[in-house]
Amino acid sequence: MKNKIGQVLPTTQRLDIAMETESFPNIETDRNPESSSKCGLCTQSTCCTYVTQQIDTPRSKYDFEILLWQVSHRGVGAYKDDDGWFVMFDAVCNHLEADGYCGIYEDRPTICRSHDNDFCEYDAPAEDGFKLYFPDYPSLLAYCKKRFKKWSTGNPRPG
Ligand code: SF4
Ligand code: SF4
Repeated sequence: MKNKIGQVLPTTQRLDIAMETESFPNIETDRNPESSSKCGLCTQSTCCTYVTQQIDTPRSKYDFEILLWQVSHRGVGAYKDDDGWFVMFDAVCNHLEADGYCGIYEDRPTICRSHDNDFCEYDAPAEDGFKLYFPDYPSLLAYCKKRFKKWSTGNPRPG
């Protein structure tokens, strides 16, 4: 049986992946006005269009040089929330079908199974919960210049 991911999921935790809404493809799905399920009403399946990876808290200039390199790539951003720092990637899941349903619902990964739709991207953009948000190179560079008094381009690897 196919299903959208939030319809039968335990309400354990909000998925710690996030996205920059405007940069993601707009996935049109079948809106079902008869549905009482939030996922059934969701037209973008946003939760299936990105992945994130937690990273060590960047502290040195070189740590930020690495992050600057990463966010220089199309579809890559970074953010900090209550759980720490994350790199995020715009990447629509291969299993997301045109109608917005999961094509491998019975075999979907644990992360998908534990996704809680009590408060998800259907309710508000994920970035609303970010403490820091860097969708691109200019935003992170501006932060670096503010954070480090003597920031200069090309900070070398320590040691
Ligand atoms: S974004 Fe929320 S409402 Fe939409 S499919 Fe994902 S969990 Fe369901
Ligand atoms: S496997 Fe892909 S399409 Fe299915 S629930 Fe997970 S992220 Fe969504």
